[in-house]
Amino acid sequence: MATLLESYAAGRWIRAEDEGEPLLDAATGEEVARISSRGLDVAAMVRHARDVGGPAIRALTFHQRAALLKAVAKHLTGVKDELTTLSAHTGATARDTAVDVDGGIGTLFSYASRGTRELPNDTIVLDGGVEQLGKGGTFVGRHVYTSRPGVAVQINAFNFPVWGMLEKLAPAFLAGLPTIVKPASQTAYLTELTVRHILGSGLLPAGALQLISGSAGNLLDELTVQDSIAFTGSAHTAGILRRHPNVVDGGVRLGVEADSLNCSILGPDVRPDDPEFDLFVKGVVTEMTVKAGQKCTAIRRVLVPSGLRDAVIEALGARLSRITVGDPRNPDVRMGPLASLGQRDEVRKAVEALRAGADVVFGDPDGGTVLDGDPERGAFVTPLVLRAASGAPEPHDIEPFGPVSTVLAYADVDEAVTLAARGRGSLVASVVTHDPDVARSVVLGLAPWHGRVLVLDRDDAAESTGHGSPLPTLVHGGPGRAGGGEELGGIRAVLGHLQRTAVQASPDLLTAITGRWTTGAARRESDVHPFRKSLADLRIGDAIRSARRTISLGDIEHFAEFTGDTFYAHTDAEAAARNPLFGGIVAHGYLVVSLAAGLFVEPSPGPVLANFGVDNLRFLTPVKAGDSIAVTLTVTQITPRNTADYGEVRWDALVTNQDDKPVATYDVLTLVAKEWP
Ligand code: NDP
Repeated sequence: MATLLESYAAGRWIRAEDEGEPLLDAATGEEVARISSRGLDVAAMVRHARDVGGPAIRALTFHQRAALLKAVAKHLTGVKDELTTLSAHTGATARDTAVDVDGGIGTLFSYASRGTRELPNDTIVLDGGVEQLGKGGTFVGRHVYTSRPGVAVQINAFNFPVWGMLEKLAPAFLAGLPTIVKPASQTAYLTELTVRHILGSGLLPAGALQLISGSAGNLLDELTVQDSIAFTGSAHTAGILRRHPNVVDGGVRLGVEADSLNCSILGPDVRPDDPEFDLFVKGVVTEMTVKAGQKCTAIRRVLVPSGLRDAVIEALGARLSRITVGDPRNPDVRMGPLASLGQRDEVRKAVEALRAGADVVFGDPDGGTVLDGDPERGAFVTPLVLRAASGAPEPHDIEPFGPVSTVLAYADVDEAVTLAARGRGSLVASVVTHDPDVARSVVLGLAPWHGRVLVLDRDDAAESTGHGSPLPTLVHGGPGRAGGGEELGGIRAVLGHLQRTAVQASPDLLTAITGRWTTGAARRESDVHPFRKSLADLRIGDAIRSARRTISLGDIEHFAEFTGDTFYAHTDAEAAARNPLFGGIVAHGYLVVSLAAGLFVEPSPGPVLANFGVDNLRFLTPVKAGDSIAVTLTVTQITPRNTADYGEVRWDALVTNQDDKPVATYDVLTLVAKEWP
């Protein structure tokens, strides 16, 4: 008998109390593993996540969490071959496995890098600027994001046993949440092996990751207001989860990614000999055959101008007839079987239902040629193209989760958009066009109904990642029927796991709470110039007030000549006098900023290593010849880098004139050594 998969609960691997159900190889029908969660104490898992995992993750800064994700990604890269070999049992070809395994690891790398670059080396995130709430500046507000003391439960579909787990794990972990993974039973052996490798690496804190192999049992009963569920699967199961009392009344957050009738639209501008025609056909065939069409993002509806319908069907047939179907371990096979005989039955049922309003125009719904593999015990379905009248309701309602697409003709762009919208909300649509007007009107029409829209043409095709690939940096999810959830999208997914709170306080207390100096808070000036302090000594609020400097007409003329910026407002007194904003010659904004640097700098070698930029620069009051300026520089944020012997220091720069009016404000960004002898 094949091995019984185990769950990882409360710090140890647990075997079920029974012998479990068999999980079969998709191509041969042989038993790969058995699965059961009978006897698993899910309440203890939730407690362990909350009491052990959560506090351990939240003790780390975002940068430390990102570094661990990167280490896990590297570790999994080292065991990729083992995962790939096991993946063949799911019916995945090498190309399919790359999407799942490499795609999952790539997502970890992407989140590790984004987490380091876009999140602070801290445990809270600030959102937006400071809101002045009182005239005197003693009462201010700011939004902060903090981690929730809860558990992130993920319930995944069978089609991406590795990517499905990692794309949810990465943002949850960065957000400080421990994860409980519940993979779909059918392909759980691959998730289990991946979890074994992650846990075996010893990289993640105890309690950060647990696994349920088998049914979720009463897991949802244990969840409360700080917990969340991210679900991918059928709309039917999503409905069951949505109706759970802890979701309806208990405040448990539920994100859903469910069935989606994605479409691809061939633009009305495209002719059969345009490169876009081939790109369109190739895109549809790719989406029908990668993972044997078992992708939530696959193209189910093929929308084409009515005059090109037959040409498209012919071209699809020509390409699909070159797709060899069979056991994915055979290198000549381009498309593997579906994940299970159950899925094959579902697809056959869906095709039967579609045929009420559509004809099969390519492929054999009852068979087709299969290379290797057992045609009876293997879950093979060969590619099928149907052709439906645009009024037929079925293609907009029935999702055959396999290599099946339906071609529908449209009369004009408005009808194409209307047909797309009949899917009642989808994950992704693509439009293949080289016409800017078509691109804009179709995308604006599709956008309210989709989470992602790909516009493909001859210019982006070579680099395009294709219709069906969710990317870590772009939002994945869709409205309506697609579930209404949103995943990925870079740091958006991390923020989605955090709680945003508006904090109202005095500037001093807001500085203490956020760790970021707030305008109006105390400044600390001393005899030691802050540029002489390393990170070991520098504190938020350390400041320098510079001497004053008068700007002469000669300075302005010199700057104009020296830089070549001879814009009339700096050089032509008569023309400048007619300028409604200035009424005469004014200093260049960049002159003001340059002179300000000269005023605040401490020039000798010291711990300040580099100036790497300026943020939020605004010129507020024009500076005329004879005006004098001074600058106040205050440390607003200190971010040590974990992997370097320096860190980033953000300074608030405020340039004022002789009347104390603000002339310019900006943030100066520097790199400062952690230690300086
Ligand atoms: P299901 O909705 O049946 O299962 C998805 C996940 O939910 C699995 O992990 C499953 O576990 C779990 N689950 C099922 N019932 C419950 C429950 N009552 N409480 C908690 N968890 C539960 O989808 P499948 O994976 O079987 O796929 C079926 C269909 O879903 C496909 O044919 C396709 O139409 C659609 N689908 C959509 C996807 C998308 O991304 N939009 C992706 C994959 C599928 P278990 O496996 O142990 O039952």
